[in-house]
Amino acid sequence: MRLSRYFLPVLKENPADAQIVSHRYMLRAGMIKQQAAGIYSWLPLGFKVLKRIEQIVHEEQMRVGHIPLLMPTMQTADLWRESGRYDDYGQEMLRIKDRQGREMLFGPTNEEMITDIFRAHVNSYKDLPLTLYQIQWKFRDEVRPRFGVMRGREFLMKDGYNFDLDRDAAIHAYNRHMVSYLRTYERMGLTAIPMRADSGPIGGDDTHEFLVLAETGESEVFYDSAVTDLKLGTREIDVDDRAAVADVCREFTTLYARTDETHDAALFDAVPEDRRRVARGIEVGQIFYFGTKYSEAMGATVVTPDGSRVPVEMGSHGIGVSRLLGAIIEANHDDKGIIWPEGVTPFHVGIVNLKQGDGSTDSACSALYAALVAKGLEPLYDDRDERAGAKFATMDLIGLPWRITVGPRGLANGKVELTSRRTGESEEVSLEAAVERVAQIYANL
Ligand code: ATP
Ligand code: MG
Repeated sequence: MRLSRYFLPVLKENPADAQIVSHRYMLRAGMIKQQAAGIYSWLPLGFKVLKRIEQIVHEEQMRVGHIPLLMPTMQTADLWRESGRYDDYGQEMLRIKDRQGREMLFGPTNEEMITDIFRAHVNSYKDLPLTLYQIQWKFRDEVRPRFGVMRGREFLMKDGYNFDLDRDAAIHAYNRHMVSYLRTYERMGLTAIPMRADSGPIGGDDTHEFLVLAETGESEVFYDSAVTDLKLGTREIDVDDRAAVADVCREFTTLYARTDETHDAALFDAVPEDRRRVARGIEVGQIFYFGTKYSEAMGATVVTPDGSRVPVEMGSHGIGVSRLLGAIIEANHDDKGIIWPEGVTPFHVGIVNLKQGDGSTDSACSALYAALVAKGLEPLYDDRDERAGAKFATMDLIGLPWRITVGPRGLANGKVELTSRRTGESEEVSLEAAVERVAQIYANL
């Protein structure tokens, strides 16, 4: 993309109403525009990152055999009366009447609807296990929408639902989700700590939240500092191997890490003193095991191998797709702007032409651009007739992890400058080497 032809409405001034850094930078980098409290348009740059995050979520869901579908945002009140949640859910549910006076709602979550789909089409244990998921907009009429996309009213969520024959299989589904979530967040350059939590209005027996440490997080976290060193890395895990999956879950949940409400002081005291930490975290996902809570209420049953009929075992799992943009920025920025992890960056590399209109820098930039595209990469080429300082400031603000700077002095020796946004370090390299280096970085992801 050539910046002169893109739509990147950056702001020079700090927006007065943005209290946290991710909200400030998302507005300044022209990623979002507020349309009403907690409701945003996704401008091209923000939309691109949102799509990258969605793509990672899809890939990691499908890697473990989950099946994507799409349910509507609008649901009927009657469906929610079956589970009893229409009255329980409270003010966060946006309730609407259609022209016939029928009561509808904008879905805050989809346990009832997926259970309805299941009971209509699945009848036998032979169709289990089954996990269906979607990435769809949700609406929750939050009391205090704030911090930009972090606590919106309309927000994008991955919500998945597993169906299993018995408790052991459902616990395995739960564990498999934990492992899959850990990998999903790692690919986004985040350390998300799984912590046992309260189940809230979803209800159920077991639940873990995934928290990204950040000063502006809304949850207080007590933990053993060693938890942040745990990484799946490139480890191969057979997700159908129940014991292997359970082992990984144990490894990631044994070290002390608790939320404010369930925090057990005695256990925390047992953590070696130099490793005890109290910090804040952003909830980027949650998994629930709730057994037959919905299937019993709504008559979702399956025939077992011995011919009897039982309510299906279930769990649900959410990832805050739009919140993740905020969380990633909270965890990756400096005073000049965002620093995207390579896994989610909107463009792979920026090209800065220091002397626009100069025949040799222009043609070197075009050649670089074409060579990067040929490697399957998406560069953003700042071809505006602007001062170097302004171009660098824009690149720093929007946070592309790599920048190639092309100027007449370097070019005279056949060199361009390759700069890391994270470390600020630059190297002088040939055009070919710059392309190779960048291609290599992304090939290794
Ligand atoms: P919170 O405690 O932050 O209100 P929740 O526990 O009610 O969230 P879940 O039902 O677990 O939310 O939804 C799954 C995920 O969706 C959350 O982990 C979070 O990342 C995201 N999410 C929930 N509410 C919002 C919101 N208002 N804006 C953006 N993302 C949200
Ligand atoms: Mg939650």
